[in-house]
Amino acid sequence: MSRVFNFSAGPAMLSEAVIKKASEEMLDWRGEGMSVMEMSHRGKAFMSIASKAEADLRNLMAIPDNYKVLFLQGGASMQFGAIPLNLLGDKKTADYINTGMWSKKAIAEAKRYCDVNVAASSEDSGFTTIPDFADWKLNPDAAYVHYTPNETIGGVEFDYIPDTGDVPLIADMSSTILSRPIDVSKFGMIYAGAQKNVGPAGLTLVIIRDDLLGHAADITPTMLNYKTHADADSMYNTPPIYSWYLAGLVFEWLLENGGLEAMGKINKSKSDKLYAAIEGNDFYANPVEKRYRSWMNVPFTLKDADLDAAFLEQAAAKGLATLKGHRSVGGMRASIYNAMPEAGVDTLVEFMAEFAKANG
Ligand SMILES: *Cc1c(COP(=O)(O)O)cnc(C)c1O
Repeated sequence: MSRVFNFSAGPAMLSEAVIKKASEEMLDWRGEGMSVMEMSHRGKAFMSIASKAEADLRNLMAIPDNYKVLFLQGGASMQFGAIPLNLLGDKKTADYINTGMWSKKAIAEAKRYCDVNVAASSEDSGFTTIPDFADWKLNPDAAYVHYTPNETIGGVEFDYIPDTGDVPLIADMSSTILSRPIDVSKFGMIYAGAQKNVGPAGLTLVIIRDDLLGHAADITPTMLNYKTHADADSMYNTPPIYSWYLAGLVFEWLLENGGLEAMGKINKSKSDKLYAAIEGNDFYANPVEKRYRSWMNVPFTLKDADLDAAFLEQAAAKGLATLKGHRSVGGMRASIYNAMPEAGVDTLVEFMAEFAKANG
């Protein structure tokens, strides 16, 4: 058996150390005589797994005590609707920043519940940049400001946290959470589907400031009300126990490897190498303004799109898998989350040079 370097945007590569550990514990978790999948979520064994995972995540991200961490289902997409339902309160409008496909989905869903003010958009540029903060038309009466710090499809990432004053800042961090240190206290709420940089699909993380709980609209389904889950320690109903457990193994692995400070350095180095390979050869191109290039998702095109199929086939033969770009962008996309080793990026960079030479 040999594992490939998997550049999938999500579900994405997991650290081999984590999968090995899970496989060692698969049949019998630490003498319980059963796998984690078979455990009652209310039993002592799983409760210990759950609380250790939360404690490790709090430690990794330095989450302040006045924030709740929720382990939910439904993906980031479910949050697009849950956010206005929970956070509008007495207000009728919310600010959204439109920087790409995921922003647009969040906006479309919010429009079902409130007046959406698109306070800034980079759509005119084809989503290749981030709108200048000085030009944002924020509404002081907005219930919250929603943005997408990293657009997974366009490969565009904020290099700063917008200061929205007293209006809570809400961030869809699905593809950037845990990739570098962030100051959680700057946010009202952070959410992320797990399948990119946290663990397997099926788990969604919500990190929310205490004072934002308890204002949900009356029509909010019980299961979409954050207070339901905050009051029940995410055990109101059966949580996604195996994904929660695996996310916990990922958190342990990150802590053992230097935490987010170390991840940030490695991720910077990996993405610098890849962008240098694209910049340094006119066979390849990336349309994103340099300052806003994503550390996690690196889209690039070849000089001639007719060579895409050959590129993908030869890359796969070298163990470089899932490089095909999103259908809306074309070309290639290398997603290089925490679990992608630097050797994977080195191998890709080497292959790109060879391929350009042979076909340029
Ligand atoms: C993948 C992704 C989503 C959708 O996540 P699901 O968990 O599949 O709903 C939303 N936002 C961003 C930024 C993403 O990368």
